[in-house]
Amino acid sequence: MHAATSPVSVLLIDDQELAADMVREKLRGQPDIVLHYEADAAKALQACRALQPSVVLVDLKMPGIDGFDVLQTVRSDTAHLPLILLSSEESPDTKFEAFARGAHDYLVKWPDTRELLARVRYHAAAYRAHCERDAAFASLRTSQEVLLRRTQELAQSQAALQQAKKMEAIGQLTGGVAHDFNNVLQIISGNLEILRLLAHDNPAALHRINAAMEGVNRGARLSSHLLAFARRQPLQATSVDIGRLLFGMEELLRRALGHDIEVHTEVSDALWEVLADAIQLENVILNLALNARDAMREGGRLVLRACNAAAGAAEADAGCDEDGDYVMIEVADSGSGMSREVLERVFEPFFTTKLPGQGTGLGLSMAYGFVKQSGGQIRIDSTPGQGTTVRIFLPRAQQALQPAAVSSAGAAVAQFPAARMDAVGQRGRILVVDDEAAVRETAAAWLESLGYAVWQAHDGASALALIEGGLEVDLLFTDVIMPGPVRSSALVGEASVRLPGLKVLYTSGFPEGELAHDGRLAPDVRLLKKPYAGEALAREVAALLAPVGTQHPD
Ligand code: ADP
Ligand code: MG
Repeated sequence: MHAATSPVSVLLIDDQELAADMVREKLRGQPDIVLHYEADAAKALQACRALQPSVVLVDLKMPGIDGFDVLQTVRSDTAHLPLILLSSEESPDTKFEAFARGAHDYLVKWPDTRELLARVRYHAAAYRAHCERDAAFASLRTSQEVLLRRTQELAQSQAALQQAKKMEAIGQLTGGVAHDFNNVLQIISGNLEILRLLAHDNPAALHRINAAMEGVNRGARLSSHLLAFARRQPLQATSVDIGRLLFGMEELLRRALGHDIEVHTEVSDALWEVLADAIQLENVILNLALNARDAMREGGRLVLRACNAAAGAAEADAGCDEDGDYVMIEVADSGSGMSREVLERVFEPFFTTKLPGQGTGLGLSMAYGFVKQSGGQIRIDSTPGQGTTVRIFLPRAQQALQPAAVSSAGAAVAQFPAARMDAVGQRGRILVVDDEAAVRETAAAWLESLGYAVWQAHDGASALALIEGGLEVDLLFTDVIMPGPVRSSALVGEASVRLPGLKVLYTSGFPEGELAHDGRLAPDVRLLKKPYAGEALAREVAALLAPVGTQHPD
């Protein structure tokens, strides 16, 4: 029995103090039973709550509030506490009413001591068992709930991991294909450039060459989209004022979306600047807006919103896996929304639900790659029939940065003052280093045709051997990734020591490794993205070799 560990606590409620003496007398010599006494029936409930007895004995006849009333009040408070009515009458009617009002037992004053003890102990043990069973059920229910929750959480994180692995694998594949594809395009475009020079007096041939070049450009656009998804596009991150960027796009978006779609921009006060490539970011927002337009064929509302998401704040918690301050950019439409199945696949390259010719399935994959490469997060919420909200979180710029120098050739063209382009054809000595023979030879042939003296090397080690052997050049034009023990960065380091004033131009299908930190280029690195046009190569080389003072700002 439990008697040794926890005593049975009996509460007696009776207006007659004599009754208390009687019961105390009967319980004398029972160390496992403790008696409490309350003379005022009005305080019965209070006493039960305070003392938490295991059994309550209640007198039937009391002035004012009688035993039945006490039964009823206490029972309405606790369902299972044993209540035993004490009465001097043995009438069946009274007994019946006592049980009807919630009594567990009925004793006629005064029962034999053994009977009283037996009944008190029996009811106390039953009550204890009842309470223990309830507690066990409650804890079982809680642990079942915890188990269920944990299982759901586990399933969710496994699904997220699966998804991340899938995106990683597709990214690897896409990046690899785009890289090799760029080399192929480079060979084709380089040779087309040379053909164009050879065929300058043959209009029919020039026409064909231009058509072929158009194909190369289309391929280059595709591969740059794929590189964006693979997080390998050259990004020029600067400090960007998102408010200005969004308001600056409003007019363009209104025109692109048409009259039936209302465009609304909300930018919260004191918005932080973010660190990102502004041109690519505009591109991403435009893509999101075009998706929204396609989802609102009957018209609707597009809301662009920007606000701060401080580390630890609800917005940041919902969107970001890592601590840190972010700015949230939201693009919300009132369009058709997406099913779960579609939502799970939207970031995959070439996944589209649109008709052939109407969708490429590259918009959201580019957005995904761009945001990830920029150190941010992208989340989509969508309800079929109600609309879609895309949220992009971009890291806050720590200090206001100056717009960085333009370093990728594509972007440089736009800024390059026309007056300086006459440098094409200026003489100089160039060492071209690339492991792809066709790419290297095309570049060399093109540079030679422009009047430069050109040497070639197929990897870092042989290029270095040439320089160590006494070759003097003004410019090193080298691929970033090459096989062999001497990496391009080491080649540039060594060569610059031997040839002070040496200019360096990198080229790559994608900027990786030493050149890029988190895929972002250092501002002092000049990189010519593959595939590049002969014109772009000529401009970059001319700019690098131009006499000091006429160079464009770096
Ligand atoms: P595309 O627009 O060329 O189909 P995206 O990668 O931009 O490629 O989008 C992939 C798919 O995601 C779309 O085909 C469409 O099914 C779905 N989607 C994207 N944005 C939305 C949107 N705002 N509302 C509804 N569906 C969308
Ligand atoms: Mg799209």
